[in-house]
Amino acid sequence: MATKKPRLGVWKFASCDGCQLSLLDCEDELLAVAGAVDIAYFPEATRSTVSGRYDLSLVEGSIATPHDAARIHEVRRRSRTLVTIGACATAGGIQALRNFADVREYAAIVYARPDYIATLATSTAIAEHVRVDFELRGCPISKHQLVEVISAFLAGRRPVTPPHSTCVECKLKGNVCVMVAHGTPCLGPATHAGCGALCPSYNRGCYGCYGPMESPNTPALTKQLEALGVDQSTLRRVWRSFNANAPAFRRESERHGP
Ligand code: SF4
Ligand code: SF4
Repeated sequence: MATKKPRLGVWKFASCDGCQLSLLDCEDELLAVAGAVDIAYFPEATRSTVSGRYDLSLVEGSIATPHDAARIHEVRRRSRTLVTIGACATAGGIQALRNFADVREYAAIVYARPDYIATLATSTAIAEHVRVDFELRGCPISKHQLVEVISAFLAGRRPVTPPHSTCVECKLKGNVCVMVAHGTPCLGPATHAGCGALCPSYNRGCYGCYGPMESPNTPALTKQLEALGVDQSTLRRVWRSFNANAPAFRRESERHGP
């Protein structure tokens, strides 16, 4: 008798779709994934949808509207395991810059009729609203890590996504440190590994796309950045980008201005 395959759902909230595209970008691995699971809901990839419950839900995007805030509870109810993918879903994303300002002012600048816009004052991570079984970081996420998460789910084990800093990946690649050698500001020492130290491998500093590593010493890194001549307003912006609302980065940015 054929065994029933686990049902996969891929859900979108406030996001740019880049993390869902990482799944489509898996190419060879995608065929294996498609063979191992029943893709029951994934509007980015297929029009067909199957209602009911899901064994694994991958959730992209943040909670930014009243509709999102209600819908995520429905997704949680229908999901056995819920994994959030990307900086939007794990930290509120770039749209969480509104959390430091008045969202009505932003809406008035962007939209001709802001009165038609139903939005929340903040953009927040999925885990601030419902129980999340695993968070996969990155903007966008790494497709290799995504395949690891799905494989781990199928094998009934915890995914292996090391929580150490980007510096560890950078050193393992044998890169020359851009901060030490060239005085280029780099967020690598405080940033979660996962991208393979992409920017330092091309002689640029890390921008912190993967959010805070497990125990980041952000004040120490700020001291180093100050020594390189980074001023207070730049420091505030450096810590306030894709993962602005991740607590460790938010606290550090707030030390340098409102
Ligand atoms: S985390 Fe980045 S790539 Fe992923 S959906 Fe959000 S903005 Fe797009
Ligand atoms: S270049 Fe950046 S990520 Fe690489 S070792 Fe230096 S500080 Fe760390």
